[in-house]
Amino acid sequence: MKIICIGRNYKDHIDELDNEMPREPVVFLKPGSAVLPAKHPFYLPAFSREIHFETEIIVKINRSGKYISPRFAHKYFDEIGLGIDFTARDLQNELKEKGLPWEKAKAFDGSAIIGKFVPKDLFDIRNLNFHLNINGRTVQRGNTSLMLWDVGDIISYVSRFFTLKLGDIIFTGTPAGTGKVNPGDTMEGYIENKLFLKVNVK
Ligand code: MG
Repeated sequence: MKIICIGRNYKDHIDELDNEMPREPVVFLKPGSAVLPAKHPFYLPAFSREIHFETEIIVKINRSGKYISPRFAHKYFDEIGLGIDFTARDLQNELKEKGLPWEKAKAFDGSAIIGKFVPKDLFDIRNLNFHLNINGRTVQRGNTSLMLWDVGDIISYVSRFFTLKLGDIIFTGTPAGTGKVNPGDTMEGYIENKLFLKVNVK
């Protein structure tokens, strides 16, 4: 399985990192080895002093597809959930400056936190509130209605480049409010005030 991630999909986050507004979705991948096993703590890696959380709505692909049109994209996923795209921001900034690929900053072991999935029909994916608490305090909030590209657009776009396969996961991008995690933090992610993920940072 692969993880396909969208960057710069919320205007407020683009402004926060002082990035340029993209004309097309920014896409990168994480390998299967990036997934933090369920119930494991997240160990801060030695190569970064600035691991940021990015709280994102995720979808799980349920069949193979390529060149999927936006209007049929809904047939390619049944389940939605919440994930964290951990990012070594210091390293990413260094790589960005040099025009180098982001993988070391984005695709390292444990960098993909995948919470539970639920049937997509339980929610309106075009208007989903989600938030992240750290140690009981809300640090990031988003709503999918503020995405530049919605899930259908994303599935269609990425399937031009990568064949989607059963079990692939798409991270749909983070809203503003990303920030650093510290040893001892307990992170809890919610969709519409229901708990979808919990991870301890060590
Ligand atoms: Mg992200």
